[in-house]
Amino acid sequence: MKTLKIFDTDAFVDSNEATVTDCKKSNKEGYEDYYEVITDSTIFAPEGGGQKCDEGFFDDVKVIDVQEINGEIVHFLESEIKADTKVLQKIDLNLRFRRMQNHNAEHLICGLIHAKFGFDNVGFHLSEVRNDDGSLESIEAIMDVDGPISAEDLKEIEMKANVAISENVPIYAILPSAEEAEKISYRSKLDISENLRLVIIDGYDVCACCAPCLDSSAQIQLVKIVDFFPHRGGMRLTLKAGIDAVKDYIALHDDNKGTMKILSCERGRCAEAAERMNVKLTEAHEDKVSLKRQITVMLEKELKNTIRMQESTYIVYFADSIDEIQARALINDNINEAEKVIIVMFEKTDDGYRFVAGKNENLTEISLKDLAAKMREKLNARGGGSEQMIQGSIAADRDTISEYFKNEP
Ligand SMILES: [Zn+2]
Repeated sequence: MKTLKIFDTDAFVDSNEATVTDCKKSNKEGYEDYYEVITDSTIFAPEGGGQKCDEGFFDDVKVIDVQEINGEIVHFLESEIKADTKVLQKIDLNLRFRRMQNHNAEHLICGLIHAKFGFDNVGFHLSEVRNDDGSLESIEAIMDVDGPISAEDLKEIEMKANVAISENVPIYAILPSAEEAEKISYRSKLDISENLRLVIIDGYDVCACCAPCLDSSAQIQLVKIVDFFPHRGGMRLTLKAGIDAVKDYIALHDDNKGTMKILSCERGRCAEAAERMNVKLTEAHEDKVSLKRQITVMLEKELKNTIRMQESTYIVYFADSIDEIQARALINDNINEAEKVIIVMFEKTDDGYRFVAGKNENLTEISLKDLAAKMREKLNARGGGSEQMIQGSIAADRDTISEYFKNEP
């Protein structure tokens, strides 16, 4: 006798007294520690059609998995329950309800797409995020259709689906015979005629499906297409429905409030305000580049004077707030002026400076590599480089550095 699938026609039964008809140690790979239990009736929907099996217990024994194997619904349990034993089956109806909200929302969206564009659903699964304790955080439905749809058209489909939800139309499943099925027009991913089960959203969709379904469209509550992109010649859509869509709306609202505060803008004006901010940032960046250029020109003049005035071979030049590009430009533009070693100290911090040093090519008797070694020893410097240019950082203050170079290293 085949197991009576109670969920086929009533998805809201969350406990059921059943009798075990068969129980054996499993030899399925990965399930060797468990028992395969078959019952005369069940409220456990097996894994299939893009969603996981129901979760719950037989009395207080946890159901690990439920699979349909050769037409039989097989429950995998942690311990043995002998045949003819009566058990109380219990499922997590809250989990099933959220799955049904997302799954039936997918039916509704696909039905509307099929009616308008004739495209078929060619892929579907429910993606679940769990918390550390195993409880459900969120569900979304991911579905593929076999044709392209514009953003505008998707918006229209989404609105129509939400109108259908507000109309509170019945949702139900039927199990037609092969002859009856021939007279019905329905969507189906597979070519099934035997054991066909159709889920009907009255006036909107008829689809072959094995999963438990809601009683009415209003139970879907809300559907939002949260993402879509071209995929294998068609589209991949991500939907959130029911409680999961509401949770998403609340989270987005909080996020939006934070953004409104930062941008000092009204609700619904964040994109506009962000665009204005972006323009301002670009202008500020251009100003900064121009100011840096002007500063470099001024510093170059000052450095030229310093080179002219100082007799020392080592010219130490402090330019606290310039960056590395500016420091290198200062050296490159002045190194041919005189036979000197120019050391620029830049990006001042509490600990010291970064530095870059270059030498005039006629100074063959001076080795910058040797200078780097001495600076490492005497000035807590780090870094090195070539004979023509060295760079790094110095952990010393301005006076210590100036004093060191005054005495010629
Ligand atoms: Zn389905």
